[in-house]
Amino acid sequence: MAIYSYKTEELTNFKCEENRKKYLEGINIVKKYLGRTYPLIIDGKEIETKKIVKSINPANFNEIVGYIHQASIDEAEKAMQAALERFSTWRLTDPQMRADVLFKAASIFRRRKFELNALLTIEAGKPWVEADADVAEAIDFLEYYGRQILELQKIDDKILSRDKMERNEYRYIPLGVGAIITPWNFPIAILTGMSSAAIVSGNTILLKPSSNTQVIAYKFVEIMKEAGLPDGVINYIPGKGSEVGDYIVNHPKTRFISFTGSKEVGISIYEKAAKVQKGQIWLKRVIAEMGGKDAMIIDDGVDVDFAAEEIVKAAFGFSGQKCSACSRAIIHKNIYDELMEKIIEKTEKIDMGDPLEYNNQMGPVIDKAAFDKISEYINIGKKEGKIVAGGQFDDIRGYFIRPTVIADLSFKARVMNEEIFGPVLSCCKVESFDEAIKIANSTEYGLTGGVISSSRINLEKAKKEFHVGNMYLNRKCTGAIVGYQPFGGFNMSGTDSKAGGPDYLVLHMQGQSISENF
Ligand code: NAP
Repeated sequence: MAIYSYKTEELTNFKCEENRKKYLEGINIVKKYLGRTYPLIIDGKEIETKKIVKSINPANFNEIVGYIHQASIDEAEKAMQAALERFSTWRLTDPQMRADVLFKAASIFRRRKFELNALLTIEAGKPWVEADADVAEAIDFLEYYGRQILELQKIDDKILSRDKMERNEYRYIPLGVGAIITPWNFPIAILTGMSSAAIVSGNTILLKPSSNTQVIAYKFVEIMKEAGLPDGVINYIPGKGSEVGDYIVNHPKTRFISFTGSKEVGISIYEKAAKVQKGQIWLKRVIAEMGGKDAMIIDDGVDVDFAAEEIVKAAFGFSGQKCSACSRAIIHKNIYDELMEKIIEKTEKIDMGDPLEYNNQMGPVIDKAAFDKISEYINIGKKEGKIVAGGQFDDIRGYFIRPTVIADLSFKARVMNEEIFGPVLSCCKVESFDEAIKIANSTEYGLTGGVISSSRINLEKAKKEFHVGNMYLNRKCTGAIVGYQPFGGFNMSGTDSKAGGPDYLVLHMQGQSISENF
């Protein structure tokens, strides 16, 4: 078996003019196909339906990204039948061959990187740097899971056989048809990660992307086809979550559900999946990655300039629409005033506007529902604390919300406990490091957390007491790297899975033990 070393995809340096030119070329490529119509893809066939929705640019309502045919229950059922049929052959394919499809797809991603970056900017409102990181992460997932499936083949070597008595084998086999339900906030990285993990493990899938980013999802399916993936392994069925999503979750032939999205939808999927439907002969497995209310704790005696920099980056990167975004800053009283001043100063310097312009570090939020929800939380924050930066929003041309900082909050405030999922940072002052940990742990979530401290004792305390799936010491709490920081949260942040980690693929498989008597 060939050995491959794993190296993460390098992020593009946009200080280099050459690279900025490539991005602009990417934008030109995307502009040529704006407004195209996209079919469903079931068993490799393009299917048109009666219902079409349009995808619009969240930074510019006049720009239509594409028209997408929508699946109904009928098409979801057709997709299920195709996926079941194709599972009978795909499950038996050589894992090396499946890995090679992922490696080839990674190469195609690299070739089309700037086009994909630009599409993320136009359909999801991602500034250049964020879009580039999203595509790089998708490439990393393909390269990493390709290697992981090869690694997992070695499990059999770890099983003992008894000489002259029996031969024992242990192997992982795929589960069956998976429902892959993805979010819009990492529309290519998370979708690619969830889908590629499922198929490289030998499963076939029904891919239901977020309604906000269906064109990007289509591009992924197109790339996988070009990479040689047989028909029917991925069935692309864009449609409403509450209709198509619900149908594939409840379907008796669905073997597992891989979901990333909000806590509310995650809980409902978990509950529905638990119900054994008529004709169902297994218990469905659910991998759910859900929301967060991530905090950064800032201890006494740290470099406040550095702390402010890390907080602001983590709070406002991609308009705070990362599940890992810092949405709470819990600050030691001795440095509170000085640090708040720095946070305000850095927040006010953020250039916000159409992300097609390289200089705009922050773009819009994703859609009207998000815009309304976030602006409502800003109004709540005005009553619960003090708005010290931002607080303005308008949706004249796109869904724009200024990066907002709310100070002097009680840890019981709603804006300190509920996931806002937008550019809003809630701040509170604490008496001690112990109190900070207690407050950080006081929400129902447990996704990411950051601690900035120069005390080794406090850092060690955080390692033991701060209950989050991804903890970052002396740095921002966003930016996990595939294979380096396996990602996923505790409590209401999900089912404790770790995407981009060594045990992720196993969640898509089952172990089989075979013993032959000699
Ligand atoms: P969402 O509203 O929960 O939607 C996620 C997906 O679920 C979409 O494809 C959606 O389809 C679908 N869906 C909605 N209702 C459904 C139903 N009844 N049955 C089946 N599927 C259904 O979340 P989002 O707004 O896309 O994403 C933001 C959330 O994701 C945040 O809470 C964020 O923290 C979380 N997130 C977590 C992680 C993590 O790793 N833990 C990573 C990224 C994001 P429609 O679009 O058609 O409604």
